[in-house]
Amino acid sequence: MTFELVIRGATVHTGDAAPARPADVGVAGGLIVAVEPSLDGPAADVVDGTGLLLCPGFVDLHAHTALASFHDPCLVPKIGQGFTTEVINPDGLAPAPVDPARVEERRSYLQPLEGPGPDTWTWSTVEEYLDALDATRPATSLVPSIGHGAVRDLVLGGDRVAPTPEQLRELCRHVRLGLEAGSRMLSFGLVYLPAAYAATDELVAVAREAAAVGAPLVPHVRNEGAGVLDAVAEMIGVAREVGAPLHLSHLKALADESLVEPLLGLLEEASRDLDLTYDQYPYGAGSTLLAGVLPAWAQEGGASATLARCADRAARERIRDDIAAGVPGWENLLGTLGPERIEIADAAAPNDHVVGRTLASLADELGVHHVDAVLDLLAGSALDVTMVLHYASEEAVRTVAAHPLQLVGSDGIFGARPHPRLYATAPRFLGRFALRDGLLPVEEAIARLTSRAADRIGLSDRGRVAAGKRADLVLLDPLAFVDTATYESPAQAPPGVEGVWVAGRRVWREGAPTGERPGGVVR
Ligand SMILES: [Zn+2]
Repeated sequence: MTFELVIRGATVHTGDAAPARPADVGVAGGLIVAVEPSLDGPAADVVDGTGLLLCPGFVDLHAHTALASFHDPCLVPKIGQGFTTEVINPDGLAPAPVDPARVEERRSYLQPLEGPGPDTWTWSTVEEYLDALDATRPATSLVPSIGHGAVRDLVLGGDRVAPTPEQLRELCRHVRLGLEAGSRMLSFGLVYLPAAYAATDELVAVAREAAAVGAPLVPHVRNEGAGVLDAVAEMIGVAREVGAPLHLSHLKALADESLVEPLLGLLEEASRDLDLTYDQYPYGAGSTLLAGVLPAWAQEGGASATLARCADRAARERIRDDIAAGVPGWENLLGTLGPERIEIADAAAPNDHVVGRTLASLADELGVHHVDAVLDLLAGSALDVTMVLHYASEEAVRTVAAHPLQLVGSDGIFGARPHPRLYATAPRFLGRFALRDGLLPVEEAIARLTSRAADRIGLSDRGRVAAGKRADLVLLDPLAFVDTATYESPAQAPPGVEGVWVAGRRVWREGAPTGERPGGVVR
Protein backbone atom coordinates (compact mmCIF):
# COMPACT_ATOMS: atom_id res chain seq x y z
CA MET A 1 0.00 0.00 0.00
CA THR A 2 1.22 3.52 -0.77
CA PHE A 3 0.74 6.05 1.99
CA GLU A 4 0.56 9.81 1.63
CA LEU A 5 1.86 10.12 5.16
CA VAL A 6 3.33 7.82 7.75
CA ILE A 7 3.99 9.00 11.31
CA ARG A 8 6.47 6.53 12.75
CA GLY A 9 7.15 5.48 16.29
CA ALA A 10 4.97 7.93 18.22
CA THR A 11 3.19 6.90 21.40
CA VAL A 12 -0.35 6.67 20.05
CA HIS A 13 -3.36 7.68 22.11
CA THR A 14 -6.31 6.29 20.19
CA GLY A 15 -8.71 8.71 21.90
CA ASP A 16 -10.90 6.09 23.56
CA ALA A 17 -9.05 6.25 26.90
CA ALA A 18 -7.16 2.99 26.27
CA PRO A 19 -3.51 2.89 27.38
CA ALA A 20 -1.20 4.51 24.84
CA ARG A 21 1.11 2.29 22.78
CA PRO A 22 3.86 2.86 20.24
CA ALA A 23 2.69 2.46 16.63
CA ASP A 24 3.10 3.65 13.08
CA VAL A 25 0.10 5.46 11.60
CA GLY A 26 -0.48 5.49 7.84
CA VAL A 27 -2.67 8.03 6.04
CA ALA A 28 -4.13 8.02 2.53
CA GLY A 29 -6.98 9.93 0.93
CA GLY A 30 -7.51 12.05 4.02
CA LEU A 31 -8.16 9.00 6.18
CA ILE A 32 -6.19 6.94 8.65
CA VAL A 33 -5.71 3.65 6.81
CA ALA A 34 -3.36 1.73 9.09
CA VAL A 35 -2.31 1.69 12.74
CA GLU A 36 0.34 -1.03 13.14
CA PRO A 37 3.38 -1.75 15.29
CA SER A 38 5.44 -1.21 12.16
CA LEU A 39 4.45 -0.10 8.65
CA ASP A 40 6.59 -0.59 5.58
CA GLY A 41 5.61 0.43 2.12
CA PRO A 42 6.29 3.63 0.27
CA ALA A 43 5.12 6.93 1.73
CA ALA A 44 5.18 10.40 0.20
CA ASP A 45 5.87 11.93 3.60
CA VAL A 46 7.39 10.31 6.67
CA VAL A 47 7.38 12.04 10.06
CA ASP A 48 9.46 10.72 12.92
CA GLY A 49 7.30 10.60 16.04
CA THR A 50 9.90 9.15 18.39
CA GLY A 51 9.40 10.52 21.90
CA LEU A 52 6.16 12.26 20.89
CA LEU A 53 2.46 11.64 21.55
CA LEU A 54 0.09 11.21 18.63
CA CYS A 55 -3.56 12.01 19.39
CA PRO A 56 -6.73 12.48 17.39
CA GLY A 57 -7.36 16.14 16.52
CA PHE A 58 -8.99 17.99 19.41
CA VAL A 59 -12.62 19.10 19.34
CA ASP A 60 -13.52 22.53 20.74
CA LEU A 61 -17.11 22.24 21.97
CA HIS A 62 -17.62 25.99 22.50
CA ALA A 63 -16.06 28.17 19.81
CA HIS A 64 -16.77 31.78 18.90
CA THR A 65 -15.58 31.13 15.36
CA ALA A 66 -18.80 32.02 13.56
CA LEU A 67 -17.17 34.83 11.56
CA ALA A 68 -13.42 34.75 12.34
CA SER A 69 -12.49 32.76 9.25
CA PHE A 70 -13.68 35.61 7.01
CA HIS A 71 -10.54 37.43 8.25
CA ASP A 72 -8.19 34.65 9.39
CA PRO A 73 -9.16 31.39 7.68
CA CYS A 74 -6.01 29.71 9.08
CA LEU A 75 -7.55 30.13 12.56
CA VAL A 76 -4.04 30.15 13.99
CA PRO A 77 -4.95 30.28 17.71
CA LYS A 78 -7.02 27.12 17.29
CA ILE A 79 -4.82 24.91 15.11
CA GLY A 80 -1.75 26.01 17.07
CA GLN A 81 -3.10 24.17 20.13
CA GLY A 82 -4.39 21.13 18.24
CA PHE A 83 -8.07 21.93 17.69
CA THR A 84 -9.15 20.54 14.33
CA THR A 85 -12.93 20.65 14.84
CA GLU A 86 -14.89 23.51 16.41
CA VAL A 87 -18.56 23.71 17.41
CA ILE A 88 -19.75 27.19 16.48
CA ASN A 89 -22.78 29.39 17.25
CA PRO A 90 -22.85 28.69 21.00
CA ASP A 91 -24.78 30.80 23.51
CA GLY A 92 -27.80 31.01 21.19
CA LEU A 93 -25.88 33.62 19.22
CA ALA A 94 -25.42 33.28 15.49
CA PRO A 95 -25.19 35.38 12.35
CA ALA A 96 -28.12 33.41 10.90
CA PRO A 97 -30.98 33.12 10.51
CA VAL A 98 -31.30 36.89 10.41
CA ASP A 99 -33.98 39.32 9.31
CA PRO A 100 -32.38 41.38 6.48
CA ALA A 101 -33.76 44.53 8.15
CA ARG A 102 -31.93 43.67 11.39
CA VAL A 103 -28.50 42.76 10.02
CA GLU A 104 -26.84 45.88 11.39
CA GLU A 105 -28.37 45.34 14.84
CA ARG A 106 -27.21 41.73 14.86
CA ARG A 107 -23.77 42.61 13.59
CA SER A 108 -23.15 45.24 16.27
CA TYR A 109 -24.41 42.92 19.03
CA LEU A 110 -22.26 39.99 17.86
CA GLN A 111 -19.17 41.98 16.90
CA PRO A 112 -17.42 41.93 20.31
CA LEU A 113 -17.80 38.13 20.54
CA GLU A 114 -17.53 37.02 16.93
CA GLY A 115 -15.95 39.92 15.05
CA PRO A 116 -17.74 41.74 12.23
CA GLY A 117 -17.51 39.13 9.47
CA PRO A 118 -17.51 40.28 5.86
CA ASP A 119 -18.38 43.89 4.97
CA THR A 120 -21.68 42.75 3.56
CA TRP A 121 -23.58 39.87 5.06
CA THR A 122 -24.86 38.08 1.99
CA TRP A 123 -27.10 35.65 3.86
CA SER A 124 -30.34 35.53 5.74
CA THR A 125 -30.94 31.78 6.13
CA VAL A 126 -28.71 29.33 8.00
CA GLU A 127 -27.99 27.52 4.74
CA GLU A 128 -26.82 30.71 3.01
CA TYR A 129 -24.64 31.62 5.98
CA LEU A 130 -23.04 28.18 6.09
CA ASP A 131 -22.35 28.37 2.33
CA ALA A 132 -20.58 31.73 2.81
CA LEU A 133 -18.63 30.41 5.80
CA ASP A 134 -17.58 27.28 3.92
CA ALA A 135 -16.37 29.45 1.04
CA THR A 136 -13.78 31.05 3.35
CA ARG A 137 -12.01 27.63 3.34
CA PRO A 138 -11.19 27.53 7.05
CA ALA A 139 -8.34 25.38 8.37
CA THR A 140 -10.58 23.62 10.91
CA SER A 141 -13.89 21.82 10.56
CA LEU A 142 -16.71 24.05 11.75
CA VAL A 143 -19.76 22.30 13.18
CA PRO A 144 -22.80 24.57 13.41
CA SER A 145 -25.39 24.87 16.16
CA ILE A 146 -28.76 26.54 15.70
CA GLY A 147 -29.01 29.47 18.08
CA HIS A 148 -32.28 29.99 19.93
CA GLY A 149 -31.44 33.69 20.38
CA ALA A 150 -30.90 34.19 16.67
CA VAL A 151 -34.21 32.50 15.87
CA ARG A 152 -36.03 34.57 18.49
CA ASP A 153 -34.57 37.77 17.08
CA LEU A 154 -35.74 36.77 13.59
CA VAL A 155 -39.30 35.89 14.62
CA LEU A 156 -39.95 38.35 17.48
CA GLY A 157 -37.39 41.12 17.06
CA GLY A 158 -35.35 42.50 19.94
CA ASP A 159 -38.11 43.44 22.35
CA ARG A 160 -39.32 41.99 25.63
CA VAL A 161 -42.32 40.08 24.28
CA ALA A 162 -43.81 36.63 24.66
CA PRO A 163 -44.63 34.74 21.47
CA THR A 164 -48.23 34.21 20.36
CA PRO A 165 -49.10 30.57 19.60
CA GLU A 166 -48.50 31.28 15.92
CA GLN A 167 -45.12 32.91 16.64
CA LEU A 168 -44.16 29.97 18.81
CA ARG A 169 -44.82 27.68 15.84
CA GLU A 170 -42.58 29.96 13.76
CA LEU A 171 -39.79 29.74 16.38
CA CYS A 172 -40.03 25.97 16.25
CA ARG A 173 -40.09 25.93 12.45
CA HIS A 174 -36.89 27.97 12.23
CA VAL A 175 -35.14 25.77 14.78
CA ARG A 176 -36.19 22.77 12.68
CA LEU A 177 -34.86 24.44 9.51
CA GLY A 178 -31.55 25.09 11.25
CA LEU A 179 -31.28 21.46 12.28
CA GLU A 180 -32.18 20.34 8.76
CA ALA A 181 -29.45 22.64 7.40
CA GLY A 182 -26.89 20.65 9.39
CA SER A 183 -26.84 22.10 12.92
CA ARG A 184 -25.97 19.43 15.45
CA MET A 185 -26.92 21.21 18.67
CA LEU A 186 -29.53 23.73 19.82
CA SER A 187 -27.73 26.46 21.74
CA PHE A 188 -29.24 28.91 24.21
CA GLY A 189 -27.80 32.09 25.72
CA LEU A 190 -30.28 33.10 28.38
CA VAL A 191 -28.27 36.12 29.53
CA TYR A 192 -28.04 37.53 26.01
CA LEU A 193 -30.73 39.48 24.21
CA PRO A 194 -33.38 38.87 23.15
CA ALA A 195 -33.14 35.27 24.50
CA ALA A 196 -33.17 36.51 28.10
CA TYR A 197 -36.86 37.40 27.60
CA ALA A 198 -37.81 33.78 26.87
CA ALA A 199 -39.89 31.97 29.48
CA THR A 200 -39.35 28.29 30.23
CA ASP A 201 -42.34 27.14 28.16
CA GLU A 202 -40.78 28.71 25.07
CA LEU A 203 -37.54 26.81 25.76
CA VAL A 204 -39.51 23.58 26.08
CA ALA A 205 -41.27 24.16 22.76
CA VAL A 206 -38.08 24.73 20.75
CA ALA A 207 -36.24 22.00 22.65
CA ARG A 208 -38.78 19.47 21.33
CA GLU A 209 -37.38 20.07 17.84
CA ALA A 210 -33.89 19.16 19.04
CA ALA A 211 -35.20 16.14 20.93
CA ALA A 212 -36.89 14.88 17.76
CA VAL A 213 -33.48 14.46 16.09
CA GLY A 214 -31.45 13.65 19.21
CA ALA A 215 -29.55 16.97 19.14
CA PRO A 216 -28.26 18.11 22.54
CA LEU A 217 -29.55 21.28 24.20
CA VAL A 218 -26.52 23.48 24.87
CA PRO A 219 -27.39 26.31 27.22
CA HIS A 220 -25.51 29.22 28.67
CA VAL A 221 -27.92 29.22 31.61
CA ARG A 222 -29.89 32.22 32.84
CA ASN A 223 -27.72 32.83 35.87
CA GLU A 224 -24.18 31.65 36.66
CA GLY A 225 -24.01 33.70 39.84
CA ALA A 226 -25.94 33.31 43.09
CA GLY A 227 -28.85 31.80 41.15
CA VAL A 228 -26.84 29.16 39.29
CA LEU A 229 -28.52 26.13 40.91
CA ASP A 230 -32.01 27.27 39.90
CA ALA A 231 -30.80 28.23 36.43
CA VAL A 232 -29.22 24.82 35.83
CA ALA A 233 -32.28 23.09 37.31
CA GLU A 234 -34.45 24.95 34.78
CA MET A 235 -32.51 23.42 31.87
CA ILE A 236 -32.43 19.97 33.46
CA GLY A 237 -36.22 20.26 33.67
CA VAL A 238 -36.47 21.29 30.01
CA ALA A 239 -34.24 18.42 28.86
CA ARG A 240 -36.18 15.89 30.95
CA GLU A 241 -39.54 17.13 29.73
CA VAL A 242 -38.65 16.81 26.05
CA GLY A 243 -36.21 13.89 26.26
CA ALA A 244 -33.19 15.66 24.75
CA PRO A 245 -29.55 15.27 25.79
CA LEU A 246 -28.21 18.21 27.79
CA HIS A 247 -24.76 19.72 27.45
CA LEU A 248 -24.21 22.77 29.68
CA SER A 249 -21.87 25.46 28.39
CA HIS A 250 -18.83 26.65 30.40
CA LEU A 251 -19.93 25.36 33.80
CA LYS A 252 -19.00 27.63 36.71
CA ALA A 253 -20.26 29.33 39.87
CA LEU A 254 -19.49 33.02 39.37
CA ALA A 255 -20.58 34.48 42.64
CA ASP A 256 -19.77 31.95 45.29
CA GLU A 257 -17.37 29.02 45.16
CA SER A 258 -19.24 27.15 47.86
CA LEU A 259 -21.87 26.53 45.15
CA VAL A 260 -19.48 24.39 43.06
CA GLU A 261 -20.01 21.22 45.09
CA PRO A 262 -23.83 21.47 45.21
CA LEU A 263 -23.77 22.27 41.50
CA LEU A 264 -21.78 19.13 40.68
CA GLY A 265 -24.06 17.18 43.02
CA LEU A 266 -27.11 18.42 41.12
CA LEU A 267 -25.56 17.30 37.83
CA GLU A 268 -24.57 13.87 39.15
CA GLU A 269 -28.08 13.33 40.42
CA ALA A 270 -29.62 14.42 37.11
CA SER A 271 -27.18 12.35 35.05
CA ARG A 272 -28.66 9.15 36.49
CA ASP A 273 -31.61 9.40 34.13
CA LEU A 274 -30.49 12.11 31.71
CA ASP A 275 -27.77 12.11 29.06
CA LEU A 276 -25.83 15.02 30.57
CA THR A 277 -22.38 16.56 30.13
CA TYR A 278 -20.86 20.02 30.42
CA ASP A 279 -17.92 21.85 28.98
CA GLN A 280 -15.41 24.09 30.70
CA TYR A 281 -12.57 26.39 29.77
CA PRO A 282 -9.86 25.67 32.33
CA TYR A 283 -9.51 29.16 33.80
CA GLY A 284 -10.81 31.09 36.78
CA ALA A 285 -11.72 34.09 34.65
CA GLY A 286 -14.38 34.49 31.99
CA SER A 287 -14.79 36.83 29.08
CA THR A 288 -17.81 38.33 27.40
CA LEU A 289 -19.46 41.57 26.24
CA LEU A 290 -18.92 44.51 28.58
CA ALA A 291 -22.58 45.34 27.91
CA GLY A 292 -23.33 42.14 29.85
CA VAL A 293 -22.89 44.08 33.10
CA LEU A 294 -26.03 46.10 32.27
CA PRO A 295 -29.46 45.05 33.57
CA ALA A 296 -31.66 43.48 30.89
CA TRP A 297 -34.02 46.47 30.76
CA ALA A 298 -31.10 48.70 29.81
CA GLN A 299 -30.38 46.56 26.76
CA GLU A 300 -33.99 46.25 25.65
CA GLY A 301 -34.67 47.09 22.00
CA GLY A 302 -31.19 46.31 20.77
CA ALA A 303 -27.92 48.13 20.24
CA SER A 304 -29.26 51.55 19.28
CA ALA A 305 -31.67 51.68 22.24
CA THR A 306 -28.89 50.57 24.60
CA LEU A 307 -26.58 53.29 23.30
CA ALA A 308 -29.31 55.91 23.79
CA ARG A 309 -29.63 54.83 27.45
CA CYS A 310 -25.85 55.08 27.94
CA ALA A 311 -26.23 58.79 27.21
CA ASP A 312 -29.43 59.41 29.17
CA ARG A 313 -29.06 60.86 32.68
CA ALA A 314 -32.07 59.18 34.28
CA ALA A 315 -31.25 55.80 32.73
CA ARG A 316 -27.63 56.05 33.90
CA GLU A 317 -28.78 56.70 37.44
CA ARG A 318 -31.14 53.73 37.40
CA ILE A 319 -28.36 51.48 36.03
CA ARG A 320 -26.02 52.64 38.83
CA ASP A 321 -28.70 51.90 41.43
CA ASP A 322 -29.52 48.46 40.02
CA ILE A 323 -25.86 47.42 39.93
CA ALA A 324 -25.36 48.67 43.50
CA ALA A 325 -28.50 47.03 44.94
CA GLY A 326 -29.06 44.09 42.55
CA VAL A 327 -32.36 42.98 41.05
CA PRO A 328 -33.91 39.64 42.15
CA GLY A 329 -32.95 36.84 39.75
CA TRP A 330 -30.41 38.93 37.83
CA GLU A 331 -26.81 37.75 37.56
CA ASN A 332 -25.36 41.28 38.13
CA LEU A 333 -21.75 40.57 37.18
CA LEU A 334 -20.33 43.96 38.12
CA GLY A 335 -22.22 44.26 41.43
CA THR A 336 -21.17 40.70 42.36
CA LEU A 337 -17.51 40.79 41.35
CA GLY A 338 -16.69 44.48 41.81
CA PRO A 339 -14.69 46.76 39.48
CA GLU A 340 -11.26 45.43 40.57
CA ARG A 341 -11.97 41.99 39.13
CA ILE A 342 -13.12 43.14 35.70
CA GLU A 343 -10.65 44.29 33.04
CA ILE A 344 -11.07 45.45 29.47
CA ALA A 345 -10.05 42.78 26.92
CA ASP A 346 -10.83 44.73 23.78
CA ALA A 347 -12.37 48.10 22.91
CA ALA A 348 -13.06 49.64 19.53
CA ALA A 349 -11.45 53.01 18.71
CA PRO A 350 -11.18 55.59 20.14
CA ASN A 351 -11.04 53.58 23.39
CA ASP A 352 -8.37 51.06 22.39
CA HIS A 353 -5.94 52.62 24.89
CA VAL A 354 -7.95 51.25 27.86
CA VAL A 355 -7.34 47.61 26.88
CA GLY A 356 -5.84 45.76 29.85
CA ARG A 357 -7.11 48.23 32.48
CA THR A 358 -9.43 47.22 35.31
CA LEU A 359 -12.69 49.13 35.69
CA ALA A 360 -11.49 50.26 39.13
CA SER A 361 -8.26 51.79 37.87
CA LEU A 362 -10.00 53.36 34.90
CA ALA A 363 -12.67 54.98 37.09
CA ASP A 364 -9.97 56.17 39.47
CA GLU A 365 -8.00 57.84 36.74
CA LEU A 366 -11.06 59.53 35.28
CA GLY A 367 -12.36 60.52 38.71
CA VAL A 368 -15.80 59.02 37.98
CA HIS A 369 -17.93 56.21 39.40
CA HIS A 370 -17.01 52.87 37.79
CA VAL A 371 -20.51 52.44 36.33
CA ASP A 372 -20.14 55.80 34.60
CA ALA A 373 -16.78 54.67 33.26
CA VAL A 374 -18.50 51.58 31.80
CA LEU A 375 -21.32 53.58 30.23
CA ASP A 376 -18.93 56.12 28.68
CA LEU A 377 -16.81 53.33 27.29
CA LEU A 378 -19.81 51.54 25.78
CA ALA A 379 -21.11 54.79 24.29
CA GLY A 380 -17.72 55.77 22.86
CA SER A 381 -17.09 52.38 21.26
CA ALA A 382 -20.65 51.72 20.07
CA LEU A 383 -20.87 48.71 22.49
CA ASP A 384 -17.87 47.01 20.82
CA VAL A 385 -16.07 46.27 24.09
CA THR A 386 -15.25 42.94 25.76
CA MET A 387 -14.12 42.25 29.30
CA VAL A 388 -12.27 39.58 31.27
CA LEU A 389 -13.85 38.80 34.66
CA HIS A 390 -11.89 37.07 37.40
CA TYR A 391 -14.32 34.97 39.42
CA ALA A 392 -12.85 31.69 40.66
CA SER A 393 -9.87 30.20 42.45
CA GLU A 394 -7.63 27.65 40.75
CA GLU A 395 -8.96 25.06 43.16
CA ALA A 396 -12.56 25.57 42.03
CA VAL A 397 -11.47 25.40 38.39
CA ARG A 398 -9.67 22.11 38.98
CA THR A 399 -12.63 20.62 40.85
CA VAL A 400 -14.84 21.30 37.83
CA ALA A 401 -12.12 20.01 35.44
CA ALA A 402 -11.54 16.74 37.26
CA HIS A 403 -15.20 15.71 37.27
CA PRO A 404 -16.12 12.84 34.90
CA LEU A 405 -19.01 14.79 33.31
CA GLN A 406 -16.55 17.45 32.10
CA LEU A 407 -15.62 18.02 28.44
CA VAL A 408 -13.65 20.93 26.99
CA GLY A 409 -14.75 24.10 25.21
CA SER A 410 -12.38 27.02 24.77
CA ASP A 411 -15.02 29.79 24.56
CA GLY A 412 -12.12 31.57 22.83
CA ILE A 413 -12.92 35.09 21.62
CA PHE A 414 -10.66 36.57 18.95
CA GLY A 415 -9.49 40.10 19.78
CA ALA A 416 -6.69 42.56 20.56
CA ARG A 417 -5.96 41.20 24.00
CA PRO A 418 -8.01 38.04 24.15
CA HIS A 419 -8.62 35.86 27.15
CA PRO A 420 -5.70 33.37 27.09
CA ARG A 421 -8.15 30.50 26.60
CA LEU A 422 -8.22 31.44 22.90
CA TYR A 423 -4.66 30.11 22.49
CA ALA A 424 -4.16 27.83 25.44
CA THR A 425 -7.25 25.86 26.47
CA ALA A 426 -5.91 22.47 25.28
CA PRO A 427 -2.35 22.92 26.64
CA ARG A 428 -3.71 24.10 29.97
CA PHE A 429 -6.14 21.21 30.32
CA LEU A 430 -4.01 18.42 28.83
CA GLY A 431 -0.49 19.80 29.25
CA ARG A 432 -0.75 21.38 32.69
CA PHE A 433 -3.68 19.70 34.45
CA ALA A 434 -3.12 16.13 33.16
CA LEU A 435 0.46 15.66 31.89
CA ARG A 436 2.21 17.81 34.51
CA ASP A 437 -0.04 17.82 37.54
CA GLY A 438 -1.82 14.46 37.22
CA LEU A 439 -5.21 16.00 38.04
CA LEU A 440 -6.74 13.33 35.79
CA PRO A 441 -5.21 10.47 33.75
CA VAL A 442 -3.71 11.58 30.44
CA GLU A 443 -5.76 9.00 28.49
CA GLU A 444 -8.92 10.36 30.08
CA ALA A 445 -8.02 13.99 29.31
CA ILE A 446 -7.33 13.08 25.68
CA ALA A 447 -10.60 11.13 25.40
CA ARG A 448 -12.51 14.20 26.59
CA LEU A 449 -10.78 16.35 23.97
CA THR A 450 -11.39 13.84 21.18
CA SER A 451 -13.66 10.77 21.05
CA ARG A 452 -16.09 11.83 23.72
CA ALA A 453 -16.46 15.29 22.25
CA ALA A 454 -16.96 13.87 18.75
CA ASP A 455 -19.53 11.41 20.09
CA ARG A 456 -21.34 14.29 21.80
CA ILE A 457 -21.94 16.02 18.47
CA GLY A 458 -22.69 12.78 16.65
CA LEU A 459 -19.58 12.81 14.46
CA SER A 460 -18.52 9.19 14.10
CA ASP A 461 -15.95 9.91 11.37
CA ARG A 462 -13.36 11.43 13.73
CA GLY A 463 -12.07 11.63 17.29
CA ARG A 464 -10.14 8.34 17.22
CA VAL A 465 -6.85 7.11 15.81
CA ALA A 466 -8.20 4.05 14.01
CA ALA A 467 -8.34 2.79 10.44
CA GLY A 468 -11.18 4.42 8.53
CA LYS A 469 -11.33 7.60 10.63
CA ARG A 470 -10.52 11.04 9.30
CA ALA A 471 -6.82 11.81 9.56
CA ASP A 472 -7.24 14.69 12.02
CA LEU A 473 -4.09 14.30 14.11
CA VAL A 474 -1.97 16.14 16.66
CA LEU A 475 1.69 15.30 17.32
CA LEU A 476 2.87 16.63 20.68
CA ASP A 477 6.02 16.74 22.75
CA PRO A 478 4.61 15.82 26.18
CA LEU A 479 7.51 17.48 27.99
CA ALA A 480 7.03 20.83 26.25
CA PHE A 481 3.25 21.03 25.74
CA VAL A 482 1.86 23.51 28.27
CA ASP A 483 -0.02 26.80 28.28
CA THR A 484 2.27 29.83 28.02
CA ALA A 485 -0.43 32.39 27.17
CA THR A 486 -1.19 34.69 30.09
CA TYR A 487 -3.73 37.44 30.76
CA GLU A 488 -0.93 39.97 30.20
CA SER A 489 0.43 38.31 27.09
CA PRO A 490 -2.27 36.05 25.71
CA ALA A 491 -1.34 35.66 22.03
CA GLN A 492 1.02 32.71 22.55
CA ALA A 493 0.69 29.43 20.74
CA PRO A 494 1.83 26.67 23.10
CA PRO A 495 5.24 25.05 22.71
CA GLY A 496 5.50 21.38 21.88
CA VAL A 497 3.00 21.14 19.01
CA GLU A 498 5.13 19.45 16.35
CA GLY A 499 2.40 18.86 13.85
CA VAL A 500 -1.35 19.16 13.30
CA TRP A 501 -3.16 17.51 10.38
CA VAL A 502 -6.72 18.07 9.20
CA ALA A 503 -8.02 15.35 6.85
CA GLY A 504 -4.43 14.25 6.28
CA ARG A 505 -3.12 17.69 5.33
CA ARG A 506 -0.63 19.38 7.58
CA VAL A 507 -1.89 22.71 8.92
CA TRP A 508 0.79 23.26 11.61
CA ARG A 509 4.50 22.51 11.51
CA GLU A 510 6.84 23.12 14.44
CA GLY A 511 5.25 26.26 15.81
CA ALA A 512 3.78 27.85 12.69
CA PRO A 513 0.80 27.46 10.35
CA THR A 514 1.55 25.95 6.95
CA GLY A 515 -1.21 27.94 5.23
CA GLU A 516 -3.16 24.77 4.34
CA ARG A 517 -6.90 25.14 4.91
CA PRO A 518 -8.50 21.72 4.45
CA GLY A 519 -11.41 22.24 6.88
CA GLY A 520 -14.88 23.55 6.13
CA VAL A 521 -18.42 23.46 7.41
CA VAL A 522 -19.58 20.01 8.54
CA ARG A 523 -23.18 19.38 7.47
ZN1 LIG B 1 -21.58 31.58 26.98
